[in-house]
Amino acid sequence: MPPPDAMVAPVDPDARAFRPAPRRATLRGWGGGAGAVGWSLRPDRAQAMGAALELFRERAGGPDAWAGVIPRGMGRSYGDAAQLLGGLALDMTALKGFELDPDQGTVTAGAGVTIGELLEHLVPAGWMVPVVPGTQHVSVGGAIASDIHGKNHGAAGTFGSHVVSLTLLKSSGEIVELFPGANERLFEATVGGMGLTGAILSARIRLAPVSSPLLSVDTDRVGDLEQALAVLGEPGGPHRVAWLDLLGTRPGRGIVTRASHVTGGAVPLPVRGAATATARTEVPAGWPSGLLRPGAVRAFNELRFRRAPTSERGRVEAIGRHMFPLDWLGAWPRLYGSTGLVQYQLVVPYGAERVLDSVVAELRRAWIPCYLAVLKDFGAANRAPLSFPLAGWTLALDLPRTAPGIGAALDRCDALVAAAGGRVYLTKDARLRPEALAAMYPRLKEWRAVRDEADPGFVWRSDLALRTGLVTVAR
Ligand SMILES: Cc1cc2nc3c(=O)[nH]c(=O)nc-3n(C[C@H](O)[C@H](O)[C@H](O)COP(=O)(O)OP(=O)(O)OC[C@H]3O[C@@H](n4cnc5c(N)ncnc54)[C@H](O)[C@@H]3O)c2cc1C
Repeated sequence: MPPPDAMVAPVDPDARAFRPAPRRATLRGWGGGAGAVGWSLRPDRAQAMGAALELFRERAGGPDAWAGVIPRGMGRSYGDAAQLLGGLALDMTALKGFELDPDQGTVTAGAGVTIGELLEHLVPAGWMVPVVPGTQHVSVGGAIASDIHGKNHGAAGTFGSHVVSLTLLKSSGEIVELFPGANERLFEATVGGMGLTGAILSARIRLAPVSSPLLSVDTDRVGDLEQALAVLGEPGGPHRVAWLDLLGTRPGRGIVTRASHVTGGAVPLPVRGAATATARTEVPAGWPSGLLRPGAVRAFNELRFRRAPTSERGRVEAIGRHMFPLDWLGAWPRLYGSTGLVQYQLVVPYGAERVLDSVVAELRRAWIPCYLAVLKDFGAANRAPLSFPLAGWTLALDLPRTAPGIGAALDRCDALVAAAGGRVYLTKDARLRPEALAAMYPRLKEWRAVRDEADPGFVWRSDLALRTGLVTVAR
């Protein structure tokens, strides 16, 4: 792969040469729903991103002015983080190209390169992306902007902790290279900054050496949430996760896996495709939402639970199969029908385990079915003010977006989470209120100050930012 052009080519002074054409688009998050009508531009090189900003400025104040600009990657954030009603979504996915530096153990990648594309090439060369989320279809820019975590947060921290440097297009059109340490305030505000400090063009990422595309997986069936927490707290492989069944009579039974990389080259490295997952089939458009019912999912959960071994040690699985189970079914949110789903992901500090029970009980009391529940443990927080993880437990719940009473029930859950010193994950969010955001992210003011200094004209905005008050500006 050639290197990303933001790293090798200077900004062209005559940006007009690269001027791309905007198109009208309805953009929505991975959770589906109505979305937002706006404009989209997909510049094919870093220099053309500046031209897109120039276009934004030319329109400002006129009848066809855009409401702002928001970078967009693969659109895998669940809510409204990568869309802006009446605004311009700067599609970063054409910024491809990456270069491995095996001496330094780093890769320099364009913001549009996906985690899957990196894994496909890097794992056979003996290098692992140190933090991967539950889907491979996430861009490097999106991974930094959400400061994503993997199943190995306790051992590896967030994606942002492995970024050695990044290039950022500011709203002024200037491109700056940021490092953790030097001009670190803007670096840290960009890591987890939800695209609101500028557009990340490329990044250099520290890699982890691996000698095989395989994982050794320990599996334990657990009877309830308490047992799941206990097994996740035991020693074992660094990639830890629990799937929980919250629809049964004993909510919280589930399957816990702890996995570590197989060492010693048990299987030769160049096994193509072992580190990624290929969708076997896709849920067709127009899938009727009525088919997804608690009874059907309860039966599926029962089968899943029974098929799992009670306790198994050292089962060998390919990285792709273990890390990206949802990627085997393309467009799976369509199972929820046109109204889509909300994912509610919270974290609470160690010691506040009772809040996990309370949130589950709150949703059950309101008759809101939870079709997928995933529990993980987190290690220490990093220095980025808007980064989601903190030392504690994170629970991610997939809920039908239009379930009656869901708004009020999740507001009550927010209050429980905030009171315990926890927070919800902005990249999954579609409904958080400004008061709750402020209560959950105590360093919000500090982040805003850096953001506002970098973008005094409030060019970078998203529906998420305006809804929650991340960016405080009159529409
Ligand atoms: C099935 C599934 C599993 C997931 N599992 C996990 C998980 O385990 N851990 C986890 O942390 N997350 C997880 N996620 C969430 C996902 O990792 C994040 O939402 C990620 O940000 C999506 O990247 P994207 O390229 O799709 O970005 P988008 O969804 O397009 O954008 C997300 C945010 O990043 C910003 N952004 C995107 N590109 C750039 C750029 N170049 N410059 C500046 N800002 C940019 C956008 O403005 C937006 O605020 C999962 C999502 C799915 C669908």
